[in-house]
Amino acid sequence: MWPVATAEPLPEQVCSVCGSRSRLIAAQLGVCLDCIRDRPQEALPISDAAHPAAGHRQHAFVFPDLPRTSVRHAEETVAAARAAGLHTVRIGNRHLLSREY
Ligand SMILES: [Zn+2]
Repeated sequence: MWPVATAEPLPEQVCSVCGSRSRLIAAQLGVCLDCIRDRPQEALPISDAAHPAAGHRQHAFVFPDLPRTSVRHAEETVAAARAAGLHTVRIGNRHLLSREY
């Protein structure tokens, strides 16, 4: 979901669904964002089993009743990630962000 501000490079992970390798795959989820979006029937049971306590927050885009991420929070996250040394950070799907807070 989301850039993480850290001084250490994130370790590469392998998606359990498609087998792709990326530093953008959270170790706790075990599946890539493309699979969560495009193959949720396969990806969500894996990520939910891996980290059930945070499951509903990780998949906020699947549950439209949860509040959307605000533009302000997204931009603050990008600024924090860049301040931490990450170079390729962008906000995707801006049209889904909220301007309510
Ligand atoms: Zn995948």
